[in-house]
Amino acid sequence: MKRLPVDFSRLRTQRSRRNELPLNIKPNLRQAQLSGLPLSDAVVCFSSRQIVDLECFRPQVLIGSVEDLQRTAERASLGIADLSSVDYAVLALSPVGEAPISDKFRVFLWQTFGVPVFELVTGPNGAVLAADCEAHEGWHLQRNASAAIFDGELQILQKGQQPIRTRLTCEIETKPCPCGRDTPRIANVQLRSRANSLNMLAASA
Ligand SMILES: [Zn+2]
Repeated sequence: MKRLPVDFSRLRTQRSRRNELPLNIKPNLRQAQLSGLPLSDAVVCFSSRQIVDLECFRPQVLIGSVEDLQRTAERASLGIADLSSVDYAVLALSPVGEAPISDKFRVFLWQTFGVPVFELVTGPNGAVLAADCEAHEGWHLQRNASAAIFDGELQILQKGQQPIRTRLTCEIETKPCPCGRDTPRIANVQLRSRANSLNMLAASA
């Protein structure tokens, strides 16, 4: 099948300077984003219908929501889409307040693409609030965010904004991280179960 050349400059229209990618991802890597607002100027956005354009772009980094990454990884593993170009990383976007990505999903992405998987926690406006540590020591907060534990629940704080509730329990670690980054870490993250929420209510009553 002959493929038409794609004008990727046209696809770069939705630019944003709001986020610096928290990981060491150089702007010259081809980064394809499948969902949400563009993370940086270096990403090119593709909708789920633009699978041929995505293949032609030959992304090295894939960025997307759990749903979009799942769909794309299924297409790749079934041989419907050729995404063998992905050779650097997969970034999974987790909206704050939802469950962190599961180990099963990480393994599925790893088996499909064979590259490290990093989770990025995004706020209501799409900005990255925290991101997986490269040494797998939890999530590092972005520089524009801090964290507090209130009634057992992790809340993410940003200057001049309401605290963001996460429905997560965790530990906040400020000691130096083996990865070399100095931002606080959120470790042992777990979705707060209904049972422990009720226990906390009972304890505070
Ligand atoms: Zn770290």
